[in-house]
This record gives sequence, C-alpha cells and structure tokens, in this order.
Amino acid sequence: MFREGDLVLIQIEDKKYLKKLTKNFHLNVKDRTLRYEDVIGRESGDKVGDFYLFEPTLEDIILLGFERKTQIIYPKDAFYIAFKLGIDRSSRVLEFGTGSGALTAVLSHIAMEVYSYEQSEKFYQLALRNWERFQLCKNVRAFLMDFSEATLEEESFDAAFVDVREPWHYVDKVHRVLKRGAVCGFLLPTTNQVCTLLSHLNGKFASIEVLEIFHRYYKTNPERFRPEDRMVAHTAYLVFGRKIKD
Ligand code: SAM
Repeated sequence: MFREGDLVLIQIEDKKYLKKLTKNFHLNVKDRTLRYEDVIGRESGDKVGDFYLFEPTLEDIILLGFERKTQIIYPKDAFYIAFKLGIDRSSRVLEFGTGSGALTAVLSHIAMEVYSYEQSEKFYQLALRNWERFQLCKNVRAFLMDFSEATLEEESFDAAFVDVREPWHYVDKVHRVLKRGAVCGFLLPTTNQVCTLLSHLNGKFASIEVLEIFHRYYKTNPERFRPEDRMVAHTAYLVFGRKIKD
C-alpha cells in the first residue's frame, strides 16, 4: 500500500514518471491530473483514471531517478555484468570508477560487499547522493581515491569491474587483488580501447570474451506486432576474463 514518502512509478500511455509521494504531490499530463489523495492507500498495480501505479524496480530508479553527470552503465549492460561476474551474497566485489553510482547499485543488490573507488570529488558526492536518495548501497564502501593509490590485500576480491577510460594501466593491480579464477569485467565505448586492453590481459587473464548487448524493443499491440522504429545502436563493449596465475 502506498504511504507518504514512498516512491511511486506512474505510467500513463507510454510515459513513465518516478515520484515521491509527498502531501503536495500532483502530476499533470496533458489534461489529466493525479494528486496525493488519488495515490495514498492504493496498491502497486492499481489504476487511477488513465494512470497506472507501480512500485518502482531498480531499473526504474536508475533510469528515471538517478542524477547523471557521468556516462552511466545502463541496466541492459549492468544486469548482465552483475551475473557474469559470478557473484552472490558471499562475494566481495571491487569496482572503479564509481561515476554516478549506477553499476554499484546493481552490484550491491547481489554481492555481500562492494568496494568502489572514485577519483573525482564531484562524482563521488553525486554517487553518495543517488544512493542516499533511494536508500541503496548500504553494503558499499565508497572511497574518494584514485584506484592506483588504494592499499589492498592480495587475492582479497571475488570479482572486479573496471569502468575507466584507460583500464590497461590498472590490469596488474586488479590481477593482484583478485582471487584465482575470479572474473574481471571492463566496459569500453570504442574498439581501439578494446584492442589495447586485450594486449594487456594476455598472460594474466584467460577465458576472455568480448561482446556487446543489443536490445530491440517491440510494439506490444498483438494485432500489429513488430519492432519499435528506433533503437539504441551502441552503448559499449564488454570485456570479461578470469584471473590465471602469472
Ligand atoms: N560505472 C559508472 C556508473 O555506472 O555510474 C560510471 C563510471 S564513469 C564512466 C568513469 C568514472 O571513473 C569517472 O567518474 C572518473 O572520474 C572515474 N575514474 C577514472 N579513473 C579513475 C581511477 N584511476 N580511480 C578511480 N576513479 C577513476
């Protein structure tokens, strides 16, 4: 049941809005209005006029709620990454750079603990704000620090993910702090970066995969079922490898 202070995902036609339910809440869409008193006490899945009310998912929160000042890892990539890293409730995961904290929110959902490093004060504060606002990432240890300066024990992480422009500078250090056989992932927007990274993984990581994820959404009218006219053609390449003894 929705109470004051709850987050509500409101859908009308193909538009979605993520709103906090406060006393002065109201939403106007074209000539239709939804007010606090229309939502309070309702259940997720209820319909009020043309508005559907839902409890937001993590994807809704990241896409509609997170303030973004860096490029974020979109849920389409982040959800795949989280499972590909092979982590569970007993895993300690390393991540850098934190950026807006979008991937961290997904990793933190699955892992026991996430260590996240961000070198920029502005982005570090932004990630903390995003997590605080949506009550996320309570199991994250966030560090305002260049990863290369972090003091970490050898073989202390079950998985790692690296989202910085030149990840090859950190391959040796990441290799050192990962447990044997642990999965490490990288995200890179261009093929040139992927090729440079691949040459640095050699001899330290095996079972290497490079892939990208395409989502093609469909119009959901069963009488005229066909793809949407537009799609996102490229977000980034994902690179994964498993630590081997060097
Ligand atoms: N994965 C993040 C997300 O989903 O919101 C976005 C990361 S953003 C593209 C890259 C971040 O890496 C930037 O905020 C940058 O300041 C940070 N960064 C770059 N080099 C770093 C380093 N050596 N140590 C820590 N952070 C670093």
